Amino acid sequence: MIVYLDNASTTRVHADVLECMLPYMMHRFGNPSSLHRFGREAKVAIENSRAQISSLVGANAGEIFFTSGGTEGNNTILGGAVRSLQIKTIISTRIEHPSVYYTLLALSESFGVKIHWLDLLPNGDICYASLEETLAKSDNTLVSLMHANNELGNLLNIERVGALCRKYGALFHTDSVQTIGKYRFDLRSMPIDFAVASAHKFHGPKGTGFIYIRSDNAIPPIILGGAQERNMRAGTENVCGVVGMSKALDIAMMNLAETSRHILALKHCMISRLEASEKIFYNGNSKDLENSLYTILNLGFKIEDEDNIFIYNLDSAGICASAGSACSSGSSRASRVIENISGKKNLSAVRLSFSIYNTMEEIEHAAGVILDLVS
Ligand code: PLP
Repeated sequence: MIVYLDNASTTRVHADVLECMLPYMMHRFGNPSSLHRFGREAKVAIENSRAQISSLVGANAGEIFFTSGGTEGNNTILGGAVRSLQIKTIISTRIEHPSVYYTLLALSESFGVKIHWLDLLPNGDICYASLEETLAKSDNTLVSLMHANNELGNLLNIERVGALCRKYGALFHTDSVQTIGKYRFDLRSMPIDFAVASAHKFHGPKGTGFIYIRSDNAIPPIILGGAQERNMRAGTENVCGVVGMSKALDIAMMNLAETSRHILALKHCMISRLEASEKIFYNGNSKDLENSLYTILNLGFKIEDEDNIFIYNLDSAGICASAGSACSSGSSRASRVIENISGKKNLSAVRLSFSIYNTMEEIEHAAGVILDLVS
């Protein structure tokens, strides 16, 4: 049995999503910038998708811009905010996704922005009191904190962070790539200035995403060229991708209660089966069903596994999981996230991440394989 438990890296495209994309590669293949009927048809598809996505996340259509995914989204927001919103300090953590972490390092080097890295609690959470202290001492500040950590699953209290940002006049960017499509958002009423989504995390196509920019915060584009996306993102639009993304988000939101219940039951089952081993523990909050993303479970092992052989053994046994974030798998480097919360190098960790397509039978099987390997 092959079991795919790497849904935080990417998910399978929903059959209805694929079906609604196909016409835009075949007979409706127009370029939205063309003035003739093919172009107009494609333009209508893009704008209908924007209207649908904005209503699904509680934003105005003018606040949604299409991108090639989460990495471009984070780069656009962080780079744009530093270049045009007079940001002098960015408050963040060392366990953000690489598309935030390395962008912040580069911005600090190129523009001299001060990056304040918040200390983390041993479970990987931020300390809200120290965030407030730092905000009180900083001017022209952007806070960049991810909604759910893609390795640990830890959830940020975005209402609380947003309220602190409002109190001290700071802007708030949240990398919501792991949560849009998995929770309800009403961006209009949430204290968030910038948010990011990526379709392939919620059964949409790869290479398509969107950013939310609250209307009072105009930022410049990072990709220059044509006037697409109201001059915010040059380049011919990924029409079939955008159409697929809006369908995927629609399906995700429509089925949210059932999907989250199913996935939570899978996670709960995995935890209870793994209790049979004393050699397994959980990194971050991932075992805490209330304070972690229901799709992620991050395992640590009280065994020597310096070269992360465990993940390869799992693969040989048919269980596809991740050793850290997908972006660092394939290299033998230990996870920056685990290193930062544990203070130790080369600790082995395995991230299991679930989707609606996983079954209880798969979880029982995978748990058995993990227990065998550990013993
Ligand atoms: N941010 C987070 C939290 C992610 O998990 C990912 C993908 O792993 C990204 C950003 C990057 O998204 P994309 O793969 O669409 O570039």
